Amino acid sequence: MKVPLLDMSCQHAPLRERFLKSFGELIDGGRFILGPHTQALEKSIARCCGSEFALGVSSGTDALLVALMALDVGQGDEVITSTYSFFATAGVVARLGAKPVFADIDPKTFNIDVKAIERLITPKTKAIIPVHLYGQMADMAPVLEIAKRHGLKVVEDAAQAIGARYRDGKYACSMCDIGCLSFFPTKNLGAFGDAGMVVTNNKALYEKLKILRVHGASPKYYHKVIGGNFRIDEIQSAVLNIKSESLNDWTRQRRENAAYYRKLFAETGLLKNGFASLPEAVYESSGVENTHIYNQFVVRAQNRDALLKHLAANDIGSEVYYPVPFHLQECFAYLGYKAGDFPNAESAAKETFALPIYPGLKREQQQYVVDTINRFYSAS
Ligand SMILES: *Cc1c(COP(=O)(O)O)cnc(C)c1O
Repeated sequence: MKVPLLDMSCQHAPLRERFLKSFGELIDGGRFILGPHTQALEKSIARCCGSEFALGVSSGTDALLVALMALDVGQGDEVITSTYSFFATAGVVARLGAKPVFADIDPKTFNIDVKAIERLITPKTKAIIPVHLYGQMADMAPVLEIAKRHGLKVVEDAAQAIGARYRDGKYACSMCDIGCLSFFPTKNLGAFGDAGMVVTNNKALYEKLKILRVHGASPKYYHKVIGGNFRIDEIQSAVLNIKSESLNDWTRQRRENAAYYRKLFAETGLLKNGFASLPEAVYESSGVENTHIYNQFVVRAQNRDALLKHLAANDIGSEVYYPVPFHLQECFAYLGYKAGDFPNAESAAKETFALPIYPGLKREQQQYVVDTINRFYSAS
């Protein structure tokens, strides 16, 4: 049996005719940038995030970049974020001439350790970027409380978390100044190329983002500020409008797949023996759970690298997200961090990896994955 890390054919095959019809109309219509497909997408994504405004942009990275630009982050500012995320989260801060300031993660959720934030705040701190890693929201209540007390802006990196909900029921992107989504093909809602979205409840920020998206022009050819080309293509918006109708169903399938892995792993005894641990949707003391949308199903395992070789030899796809935390990346050496500074992120980088979780994954395939892992530990 073969189990790839991600197989999108289950998503795309049933929609193929609709895509082709839409592409035909686009070719004939000749409107390729910021047209009716984008407006429709912006409306539906704003609604899906429980927010008032959304603006389609060129990628998740550009969503983060333009969000920080709209909040006037630049030279001399500091921005606090997790040391463990996809590169874009920290890259955009540095590209604007600001200083990324890293915090360790909570070892259970892989999200920013909120207890670490406050002592990182200096008079230069301008914003906090909580990342909703793998599809579970960061612990937003304390982040927002700290931000309010210190007058800081909050940008949610929700690239992996469209439709995720905090324990109080609020959607990712709806709890902060600006929320950022990515429609990179591997995300839960993926385009046929690069695309992203910024989401806000603040009308003034929305107007500013809209101008920054087109080189800061308002009206056209008159520039009060310097923006960029952060536009989304109509062809991506058209694809996303078609795919977004199925998003709830795909998310449900991801959550069911996660629950099925839990059942299978529990039956093996691997969890009790400490060979592996599964992702947790954290509970508040009241027993209310975050809604995890499982963009990735990331597990922690002993002897990981040998296990990954064993999985590959048995045609099972997996991937390490992420092998090097930001504070140990060569490009951030100038920030002066060293190995040992953030032990939870460093051990996650050494011990964790993602298993296939995509919608359309079959029960037999999940059984095969867990049996294969079980065989590895029984033999060793
Ligand atoms: C994918 C991702 C991004 C960047 O999105 P792109 O659309 O690839 O530019 C940013 N942050 C996180 C956490 C991501 O997973």
